[in-house]
Amino acid sequence: PVVTRFAPSPTGYLHIGGARTALFNWLYARRFGGKMLLRIEDTDRERSTQGAIDAILDGMRWLGLDWDGEVIYQFARAERHRAVAESLLASGNAYHCFATAEELTQMRETARAEGRAPRYDGRWRDRDPSEAPAGVKPVIRLRAPQEGETVVEDGVQGRVTWANRDLDDLVLLRSDGTPTYMLAVVVDDHDMGVTQIIRGDDHLTNAARQSQIYRALGWDVPAMAHIPLIHGADGAKLSKRHGALGVEEYRDRGYLPSALRNYLVRLGWSHGDQEIFSTEEMVAAFDLKAIGRSAARFDFTKLESLNGLYIRGSEDAALADAIDAILPARGPERGLPPHLTPELRDKLIAAMPGLKERAKTLVELLDSAFYLYAPRPLALDAKAEALLAGDAPERLRGLIPALEALPEWNAASTEAAVRRFAEEAGVKLGQIAQPLRAALTGRATSPPVFDVLAVLGRDESLARLRDRIA
Ligand code: GLU
Repeated sequence: PVVTRFAPSPTGYLHIGGARTALFNWLYARRFGGKMLLRIEDTDRERSTQGAIDAILDGMRWLGLDWDGEVIYQFARAERHRAVAESLLASGNAYHCFATAEELTQMRETARAEGRAPRYDGRWRDRDPSEAPAGVKPVIRLRAPQEGETVVEDGVQGRVTWANRDLDDLVLLRSDGTPTYMLAVVVDDHDMGVTQIIRGDDHLTNAARQSQIYRALGWDVPAMAHIPLIHGADGAKLSKRHGALGVEEYRDRGYLPSALRNYLVRLGWSHGDQEIFSTEEMVAAFDLKAIGRSAARFDFTKLESLNGLYIRGSEDAALADAIDAILPARGPERGLPPHLTPELRDKLIAAMPGLKERAKTLVELLDSAFYLYAPRPLALDAKAEALLAGDAPERLRGLIPALEALPEWNAASTEAAVRRFAEEAGVKLGQIAQPLRAALTGRATSPPVFDVLAVLGRDESLARLRDRIA
């Protein structure tokens, strides 16, 4: 059975690259009816925070990437990691190294002077620990092969080889008894039964190191796939400006999880020329062979247009809920409470067909719905101000009684009344409809004005008109 895992280090938010790695692991597991496990690599005690753990878990939930079983915390497994290091020592596949800090610095400096990569020279590989200098606490190092090659058959990168003479004897257990990252990852992946590793290609060299540990332990090496990193639209390494933001930032900027998933799956993976994928389609089509070897480019414009597409395709009530979810972040600056009142929610849903046609993000949607929640008297933008200049207020004054007299208030009845009024006054419909729109919405553009009248209702509509003739 297929077992994948996502193994973030909780030193920051769940950024967009991590989210894509999680998605690929999730898709692969779902595709093959397997499991995706979640391991929090919290061994760096200084930099790991609970806030980051929460952000990762929340981000995954928001993106709809559910994991199987309990979350595994790497730090809690340190005892097991130590035991494995000791077993390697016992089998002769590892040894105590008593090299001092000065000696290691010396090795590094010699390497630098000779223009080669620093490398531990193996001086304690075959020395007797009884020769150890007093007061030096040893580390445990892997007795790595010195001849031949280490080969990784990578699902994306193909066959990658390293000359063993270039890989030194890496540290498994530090002198304070804490396991290194390299050891912890191998032991955890093995114990978790991971069959397929999918992660960023910044871990490719680690893959060689880790394979050596697997072999020393006599364990099967999981299949590996190292995916190219994401770059900015200009080809440079992804920075904040390019979109290297936390997933919660995408949520608060008004992206739908479905749209972000669809965007992320296409970052580095393709399926013919298909761009739009439902989750079921992604699961059915996903495979590692179709992941390219060059860096994917992050493109905000493309993400926005996908998001607009998903907004237009969403149910009105679902969009109201999605807006509700961004209100804690986006409400206060718009004078809104952190949750929709039932009344505003109803109005939003009623107005949604007209609103959702244009919006590329939920924030745009919220702003275009401004007239539903703006307090009276409405703040007018410059264009609305212009539409309400001259004799416009007089026309609105004349229109009010015609609207007041309506026995029923809806888009059709208000439209009929406004048309009749324009005809009788001998003006074009636009000459009355435009100031009407400006008075009701504070803007020169909005959804169809009779829909606006219907959604606002009789009392609120008339009050807004009266605000303009006072
Ligand atoms: N914790 C590592 C990271 O966040 C990932 C390790 C792995 O996937 O093997 O980059």
